[in-house]
Amino acid sequence: MAKQQESYPVQKSDAEWKRELDPLQYHVLREHGTERAGTSPLNDEKRAGEFRCAGCGEPLFDSSTKYESGTGWPSFWAPKEGAVETSTDRKFFMVRTEVHCAKCGGHLGHVFPDGPAPTGQRYCMNGAALKFEEKK
Ligand SMILES: [Zn+2]
Repeated sequence: MAKQQESYPVQKSDAEWKRELDPLQYHVLREHGTERAGTSPLNDEKRAGEFRCAGCGEPLFDSSTKYESGTGWPSFWAPKEGAVETSTDRKFFMVRTEVHCAKCGGHLGHVFPDGPAPTGQRYCMNGAALKFEEKK
């Protein structure tokens, strides 16, 4: 499951990512940053649609799996099939499961085993790493 991959289908140089992403997106996706809780407009996004990777545009989460976790970050109980990969993150003396885009490797957030049914998983995502596209 938690396979660490060095090469992704979407490959860009650091300079290219810097040019294409805004500073917060770059910080989250490319530097494993975390946005401040409660700051993402996507926290309140309730429309039907898809949440895509802000780095490469890959659809990552469907609005039907989004729920209100109360954490201040957009939370989902399941990603789209094969859209994300995980790795073990040992930063800050904690062992957490890091979640990144399977297509470009961009850091999205972490997954915790305290989510709701049916999966029991809480994908705690940075809104800055996602772009919402409403289903028309
Ligand atoms: Zn991506």
